[in-house]
Amino acid sequence: MALCVQAVVTPRECPDCSATQVGDQLAHDAGCPLNAAANAVSDADAAWFDAHPGKETYHRALTFAEIQELRLSGVIPDGATRVTGRVTVTRIRPGLRMRGSHVEFVEPGDES
Ligand SMILES: [Zn+2]
Repeated sequence: MALCVQAVVTPRECPDCSATQVGDQLAHDAGCPLNAAANAVSDADAAWFDAHPGKETYHRALTFAEIQELRLSGVIPDGATRVTGRVTVTRIRPGLRMRGSHVEFVEPGDES
């Protein structure tokens, strides 16, 4: 199955900490590994745009942290395998970016 995810995807809960829902975001505990990984991805995107000031969009592979977020939010079903994808990162304005993901995976039970 292939999905395109353009909206902000927020996990329902965090497997790494006792995060609480605040509005449409999860507020993670200090030191949460998943939050640290997600922040590292965001920081890397920001650094890419800092290094390429004339660009508004770039493409990269889906990261492990993003796959975890998509699993936790229910976009990728429990038991899905062979998850891969591409992310399009668009700079809206300095300091504000949007990510769109194209995700592919094998549905649970369709393993062949
Ligand atoms: Zn967490």
